[in-house]
Amino acid sequence: MQASTTGTEPLKNLEEWDDFVASRYKPGKSESEFRNYNADANPTVTEFYRQNHAHQTLDYVLHKKAEYGKLNRGKKSIWEAAEYLNTLVDESDPDTDLSQIEHLLQTSEAIRKDGHPRWMVLTGFIHDLGKVLCLYGEPQWGVVGDTFPVGCAYSDQIVFPEFFEANPDSKVPQFQTKYGIYEPNCGLDKVHLSWGHDEYIYDVTRNYVPEPAQYMLRYHSFYPAHKHGAYRHLMNDHDAEMFEWVKKFNPYDLYSKGAEKPKLKELKPYYDELFAEFFPDKIAW
Ligand code: FE
Ligand code: FE
Repeated sequence: MQASTTGTEPLKNLEEWDDFVASRYKPGKSESEFRNYNADANPTVTEFYRQNHAHQTLDYVLHKKAEYGKLNRGKKSIWEAAEYLNTLVDESDPDTDLSQIEHLLQTSEAIRKDGHPRWMVLTGFIHDLGKVLCLYGEPQWGVVGDTFPVGCAYSDQIVFPEFFEANPDSKVPQFQTKYGIYEPNCGLDKVHLSWGHDEYIYDVTRNYVPEPAQYMLRYHSFYPAHKHGAYRHLMNDHDAEMFEWVKKFNPYDLYSKGAEKPKLKELKPYYDELFAEFFPDKIAW
């Protein structure tokens, strides 16, 4: 199945966004270089952000949270979800057999090699399973992209901030104050982030994984906060503490790509056991 062929889907595949993020944070790149991307050199990514920033309103986010929060898309094991995600293939890439599972395994195996706890290895494997949203028919701008709070002022630490001009929320004065609809340091749990694969996989797995894993899953695309320190005024001290884990996780997500091809057959018994340690056979999606 090819899920990104309609004319309104700017990215050739979801990895195009991940690759863009990875190039943005190439080791050695300065904060100012980060601001300097050339829209012409990156037309698909630019168009993607144009749509993402225009359409991610508070109202949209609340609707998606309510819709997917029911977890009524059927029960699946972790392997079944991963295999389902793998049906999202990229026809421009001839070598796609395991592309999605590969990113998951490269991330989790890199974490495992560094001797991190088993729950973190697990987190590496499941962190992008929320991308199945694409297979439910959600547009790319509602699945991937850096996340940001809605219902309050947009930080200038968000990429392509100029595209918020087209977001209806930018015309609602109440949503454009520093705190917007939130209280100072109210805690991120009370803050609605733009909708995408982070929030969905957090919601699916929250009852089964430890809290640092929940933070990693829920905020791994919240680059304005975990890379640039934005939105500290909405976070509480507990969030700040937990974000140390989010930061610890990020390099594995960004830089494990291109590592050795993981051998699924060899690794499967380890992961069978790992999944069984935290999850029942099937969970609600
Ligand atoms: Fe992700
Ligand atoms: Fe990822």
